[in-house]
Amino acid sequence: MKKLKKLQEYREEIEQCVKCGACRAHCPVFGAEKHEGRVARGKVALAGALLDGEIDLEKKLLEDMSQCLLCGSCYAQCPNKVPTEEIVAAVRREIAAKKGLSTFGKGLTSVLKNPSLMNTLAKTGGVLSSLLFKKLPADSGLRLRFPAPFISGDRTLPPIAAKPFREQHPEVIEGQPGRPTVAFFTGCGINYMYPAIGEALLRALKFIGVTVIIPAEQGCCGLPAVSAGSGDVVEALAARNLKALTARPVDFVVTACASCNAGLGKIYADLEGEYADLAERTKDIFVFLVEQGLPERLAVLPASAEKVRVTYHDPCHLRTRGITREPRAILKALPQVEYVEMEAAGSCCGLGGTYSVYHYETSKKIGAKKAGHISASGADTVATDCPGCIMQLQDSLNHAGEDVRVCHILDLLMDVLPEEAPA
Ligand code: SF4
Ligand code: SF4
Repeated sequence: MKKLKKLQEYREEIEQCVKCGACRAHCPVFGAEKHEGRVARGKVALAGALLDGEIDLEKKLLEDMSQCLLCGSCYAQCPNKVPTEEIVAAVRREIAAKKGLSTFGKGLTSVLKNPSLMNTLAKTGGVLSSLLFKKLPADSGLRLRFPAPFISGDRTLPPIAAKPFREQHPEVIEGQPGRPTVAFFTGCGINYMYPAIGEALLRALKFIGVTVIIPAEQGCCGLPAVSAGSGDVVEALAARNLKALTARPVDFVVTACASCNAGLGKIYADLEGEYADLAERTKDIFVFLVEQGLPERLAVLPASAEKVRVTYHDPCHLRTRGITREPRAILKALPQVEYVEMEAAGSCCGLGGTYSVYHYETSKKIGAKKAGHISASGADTVATDCPGCIMQLQDSLNHAGEDVRVCHILDLLMDVLPEEAPA
């Protein structure tokens, strides 16, 4: 396995920044804070100064580097394709190597690298749910009853699954002969908080006759460890997932989480060799379903008398990698959906992994803008393709007092697909 790149290996990319400022208009943190240190060119300049020994790991550098969602919006708009999110992640690894991980980073990574500990914590949280959380009106989530470290008391959280998704299913679910076989990489969000999304994915794959493998030994994709600055944990999780996902022959690996898709499809590609092969075979579920002709097959479902007005939020980890058409194609093919495009559908929701833990106030400001766009679209439902975005959108809409359903596109598919696959 090739190791994740060190900061010095980004010198060429850092020098490609011509300080044109084209990234300013697209950085959600700059949009909320209007502070030069928050925008890509400021961070790239600081990374260059650190590399040249002009500055040390001083407080300003630590603060500016933590003020990044790693969303990639700047990269997508940069004329010179400076990969700021990768450079910031490399600086965070440099900081962690020299100063150690933050308290939250240490706790997070020790749970991430130990799936059985994560399972135990999730099950304990599920059992103690009514003690720890109070329900919000209209089933729009939970809030903590008591103050807890790193979680704001006014943050909306999803319920924890009574039983993790992967424990509810066998490892192999046979499809129809001659159809592809896929491994389902569930990610932590679906496994522990949103198992219904996983159920809907199985229903969709059954509808088109695909055989599904759900490897029990898979772990977190590693993206939260990228955000926390722990390269070692990212590499250990990649090794675990490579073993789990290639134990049986599969045609593709599918994900229903934008962050997991970026973890497997982008971060693993940088590890080269077998990891790059795995990255190549990883597909977002809607890319796979469109390639398998699902929109055409949905056209034969009975028309719905009642329509729901649905808009789509583009998760940054898909949008910045060019996956925007397929989720919309599935939504528009659903018989119960009247699709409306919201303004700035591609703007970040403000979650950014560990970002919203450290900078919840800014995260809320970014989320408030998104809630405004959703509300202005007139949609009854906002659908997306990422459990993390679902959690943040629900939080933002609750703060805005907007009664809009937040769901995964797969939840809408589940509403119309028959339980039994067609012969
Ligand atoms: S990061 Fe890209 S868009 Fe931003 S100032 Fe540098 S060259 Fe321009
Ligand atoms: S990755 Fe996102 S948050 Fe970070 S500098 Fe670029 S646009 Fe701003």
